[in-house]
Amino acid sequence: MHRSETECEVVIIGGGLVGASLACALQGSRHSVHVVEASPIASTKQPSYDDRTLALSWGSRCILEGMKIWRPLADKVEAINTIHISDRGHFGATRIRHYEEHVEALGYVAENRVLGEILYDRLSQDGRPVFHCPARLISIEQGPDSVNAVIEENGTQRVVSARLLVAADGVVSQVRDLLHIGSSVQDYGQSAVIANVTPVLRHNNVAYERFTDAGPIAFLPMTQNRCSVVWTVPTAQADELMQLDDASFLQRLQQRFGYRLGQLKKVGKRHAYPLKLIEATQVVRGRVVVVGNAAHSIHPVAGQGFNLALRDIAMLTELISKAEDPGDSRLLQSYVEQRQDDARRVYRFTDSLVKIFSNDIAPMGHLRAAGLAAVGLIAPLRHQLARQSMGLSGRSSELARRAGHV
Ligand SMILES: Cc1cc2nc3c(=O)[nH]c(=O)nc-3n(C[C@H](O)[C@H](O)[C@H](O)COP(=O)(O)OP(=O)(O)OC[C@H]3O[C@@H](n4cnc5c(N)ncnc54)[C@H](O)[C@@H]3O)c2cc1C
Repeated sequence: MHRSETECEVVIIGGGLVGASLACALQGSRHSVHVVEASPIASTKQPSYDDRTLALSWGSRCILEGMKIWRPLADKVEAINTIHISDRGHFGATRIRHYEEHVEALGYVAENRVLGEILYDRLSQDGRPVFHCPARLISIEQGPDSVNAVIEENGTQRVVSARLLVAADGVVSQVRDLLHIGSSVQDYGQSAVIANVTPVLRHNNVAYERFTDAGPIAFLPMTQNRCSVVWTVPTAQADELMQLDDASFLQRLQQRFGYRLGQLKKVGKRHAYPLKLIEATQVVRGRVVVVGNAAHSIHPVAGQGFNLALRDIAMLTELISKAEDPGDSRLLQSYVEQRQDDARRVYRFTDSLVKIFSNDIAPMGHLRAAGLAAVGLIAPLRHQLARQSMGLSGRSSELARRAGHV
């Protein structure tokens, strides 16, 4: 079969939230970039730009500002000024406030679909990067100086030959499979049921994280006084919650969450996502680097997955923008070394939240209540929790520093 061949410096497999963000970040660099995406961009089936919302940390805002994505996004997001953490049935709650951390906001809530539209708007402005969409990845050929992505587009096979291939193809990563990169999987046996809910009272830019015996519930403030609800429950219960009609679902949610926001009066479409911690055993193989959900898919309880990925791609952008050869092995090794501690911190933070707060054994309940009270009372502990939530606990990237806040 005839194969046409194109050359570039960086080929990104997957144009979801992470792949498209990386392509945007690289727009100002000297490197030519190609993006291979399987789903048509405007399609409602596009898996990355769905009805979910993202709690963007303050650190992510700085990176998006450095990428010049923040300005079009700013009036479409809602600020989180306070995080209120509580435990149903136990005394003890803690509040983290933006002014105590000396930032304009602790974070922001953005809709995946809205961020997707802004990213694609930017990417379609000057013909850079080149998009192959819809296109199917067939194989990967690694050589000492280049890596080939063999793809099928419009019934034709093409070879996109690059110096670096970035796998941003999501949790079921074909790139990982093709290169026999393993992954460790920790199945929490839980699913996240998500929905947008409108309460009677104003949310006043407070994000609520409430731990209950039926799993943690997050209420994140959205525009138009909506709240984005992420309710984590054992998978069997998620199926049951998905079957309920809207009124019964709201009643059940109200029972668990309480009346902090008054009556919950309206609910949008519900979706359920099974939750696992999936971690690639390697994030660099030859001239291939794995990012986003393909590298680490994290429980959404602390809203850290995309934030972590954004810090990864900010560092990758910093390193490869200056390099003659973006797939150079020393450069990729330096990327791994600079990013591994942050990833480990996020795994530990998220995993311990899931384990401590999903456990309804009585002493554990008292321990977590005491833990929350301690965090509430001891300022340095609260500050530490805030810095982790704000994505500020590691070294900041050049893109983040460009915004001038860190
Ligand atoms: C319920 C829930 C709530 C969350 N909340 C938050 C939050 O508040 N804050 C936060 O930071 N994170 C959050 N996350 C995590 C966040 O959603 C992920 O980090 C993010 O979606 C990862 O994006 P990605 O681009 O890596 O992967 P994906 O979104 O899966 O995108 C992968 C892309 O690759 C394409 N693709 C796949 N295979 C191929 C192929 N072979 N060839 C070409 N293209 C391919 C797909 O079509 C898709 O466009 C949440 C996750 C869940 C499940």
